Amino acid sequence: MDIAKIRADFPILADTVNGKPLIYLDNAATSQKPQVVIDALRHYYEHSNANIHRGAHYLAAKATGEYEATREIIRAFLNARKECEIIFTRGVTEGINLVANAWGRKNLQAGDEIILSTMEHHSNIVPWQLIAQERGAKIKVIPITDSGELLMDEFTKLLSPRTKFVSIVHASNALGTINPVQEIIRQAHEVGAKVLVDGAQSAVHLPIDVQALDCDFFAFSGHKVYAPTGIGALYGKEEILNSMPPYHGGGEMIKDVSFDGSTYNDLPHKFEAGTPNIADVIAFKNAFDYLNTLDRKAIAEHENFLMRYATEALREIEGLRLIGTAKEKMSVVSFVIEGAHHGDVGTLLDMQGIAVRTGHHCAQPLMKRLGISGTVRASFALYNTQEEIDALVKGVQKARKMLL
Ligand code: PMP
Repeated sequence: MDIAKIRADFPILADTVNGKPLIYLDNAATSQKPQVVIDALRHYYEHSNANIHRGAHYLAAKATGEYEATREIIRAFLNARKECEIIFTRGVTEGINLVANAWGRKNLQAGDEIILSTMEHHSNIVPWQLIAQERGAKIKVIPITDSGELLMDEFTKLLSPRTKFVSIVHASNALGTINPVQEIIRQAHEVGAKVLVDGAQSAVHLPIDVQALDCDFFAFSGHKVYAPTGIGALYGKEEILNSMPPYHGGGEMIKDVSFDGSTYNDLPHKFEAGTPNIADVIAFKNAFDYLNTLDRKAIAEHENFLMRYATEALREIEGLRLIGTAKEKMSVVSFVIEGAHHGDVGTLLDMQGIAVRTGHHCAQPLMKRLGISGTVRASFALYNTQEEIDALVKGVQKARKMLL
């Protein structure tokens, strides 16, 4: 892979921060955008802008065609059976809220159980708490090992006929752990439970095949796969989506409205009320078109190399403890430094132009389980380099000296 050529496609990477060349290692929070995605947004407003599906004119048809083309590319990306199984959302957060509300309100009864894991992002906890409180359902939690792996035997023990839903992160944003979701789905289906996979971190790093996984739902966000913010997709099996009531009511999601009652549109429109984020959906396709010009396998190998290289180099720093050392890991290195606050380490790295994330990473129950208040997290993307990791390691050494 020609990383220099790839870097030239991402204009922000040429910027300086605090007088230093930007080293962007916060990709698990959001990725940077290639020029083709930025150009697509401008091009849409200059040449295609119109409301979709309803208009009777040239621009409306053009915008609709471009919008629906993204649905097809996402269907192919996830290997879903049909385009109607792809619902556009604002991101993973909205996808999970949609399922918790629309599926949960219809299907959960008092005494039913929802299984989550200790390493879930808040967006895969709070929506379930809200619906569980409303329906009288209970939340059960899969425990983890100290290295950040799910205790699968404990998961098996939690399963029972009371289990109605399992919602599980594919790859942890705080630890990088890749979970055995295929096995989780298989076991959950044996007791008749439905499964949602939170693909916020996995979609950009791992090949995804929703049919092979046999998950009932899969959610991911555009902004972590080099597409704009404010856009994402939820995959759901057609028959399950069809059985669910709508989530939001409004224009576009209806067939017929009267004051006596309304009937609802077919999939996927039933779940896409109102004027959507048309420009960003269209630019979402350009992100996939861009990725499709690259060798996805080579990207995964490169990101894996960066993760292993950073792990080995950081491990040598005195007083540094890696958080999350699962065997199956991707693209994230989290750590703490004895005697130094993670926030201070982050600030000192920022002064050297190095962007990392510090804090609890929206995973407070996980931090509590590990007995820490937060970590410093470096996360890698296809445009990062070995030299940037060397700069990170030097930066951490320097920060440690200043703080201790
Ligand atoms: N789940 C995980 C594992 C995440 O990393 C994130 C984003 N940090 C989310 C869910 C939520 O994604 P979004 O904010 O894009 O809705």
